[in-house]
Amino acid sequence: MKKIVVTGAGGFIAGHLVKELIKNGHIVRAVDIKPLNEWYQVSDKADNLVLDLRLKENCFQAVNGYNEVFNLAADMGGMGFIENNKAACMISVLINTHLLIASHNCGIDRFFYASSACVYNGDKQTDPNNPGLKESDAYPALAEDGYGWEKLFSERMCRHFMEDFGLTTRVARFHNVYGPYGTYDGGREKAPAAMCRKVIEASITGNKEIVIWGDGHQTRSFMYIDDCVKGVIDIMYSNIEEPINLGSSEMVSINKLVDIVEDIAGFKLERKYDLGAPKGVRGRNSENTLIKQYLNWEPSITLNKGMKKTYDWIKEQMSRDLKSKSEANKYNK
Ligand code: NAD
Repeated sequence: MKKIVVTGAGGFIAGHLVKELIKNGHIVRAVDIKPLNEWYQVSDKADNLVLDLRLKENCFQAVNGYNEVFNLAADMGGMGFIENNKAACMISVLINTHLLIASHNCGIDRFFYASSACVYNGDKQTDPNNPGLKESDAYPALAEDGYGWEKLFSERMCRHFMEDFGLTTRVARFHNVYGPYGTYDGGREKAPAAMCRKVIEASITGNKEIVIWGDGHQTRSFMYIDDCVKGVIDIMYSNIEEPINLGSSEMVSINKLVDIVEDIAGFKLERKYDLGAPKGVRGRNSENTLIKQYLNWEPSITLNKGMKKTYDWIKEQMSRDLKSKSEANKYNK
């Protein structure tokens, strides 16, 4: 049993991670800047703290007396958010920097950092038939402006804290993660959840049109949350010292992603393409040779299976919201 700090715990991935670590018998401190009533999941068994981790003193408060840190806190969102909030994304550098300093000073044994496929060189992602980005493709550096540069810098901070101060650090580059308890509206949502929401909205309103950002031929891979949580834990306790891909290698076009959601919903929509919307790189996939070598494993939950679970969860949330709105209207009459 270890004493583990998980940051960003009010968000999507870390909320699932907290649950898994508690299930595995660990003592967990969960930290996020959001008020507790806005956390996507709250585990009663965790020590839940609301702290702004951009501040150094709060990072000391968060990690003091604990053994390990999983840092998943960041000000981030899907393409629409990161293209329009570059400064905010870069300010997350304070979170990881101050957490590393606090971890080094407080004698933390192991530190995990959640990096991103956005660190990869943009020139290597111009072809929709991307053969997969291998770890060395992050250099020469030409990361996603704002968000990607912050991730790349923070990866290097982890490396230098390990080399210079002996703090054991592990870094995974996540490729699009999706699943229940992920953001599906409000502007920070990513493509899989956004597609589910748009299709469900169409079924509610009867407006059988869907707006797709870009021409729909851009490609990505998407990793279901259960694979992500397993990968994070396995990488943390591995001997992998360099940043490593954590992503599915099942690459699909955005059009194909919409096909999958339509199949789940059981109807087709008329597609409109918004060519002026943020669309990111042309082609991106995770190349998994290294993770297979180290862990004899790679994320394998299929998009069909993961999207069905995600769609059902988002539908349930939207139906619940609709019901409570209509009840509120009834009493306001
Ligand atoms: P999320 O937005 O759901 O969770 C991040 C959490 O960090 C939020 O709850 C937010 O309130 C918290 N946070 C932000 N600023 C903070 C601060 N100053 N102090 C304390 N907490 C703060 O995002 P997620 O999808 O769960 O992502 C988790 C991590 O994984 C992030 O570092 C993200 O960059 C990385 N990542 C995610 C994806 C993905 O597809 N979801 C892909 C690549 C990398």
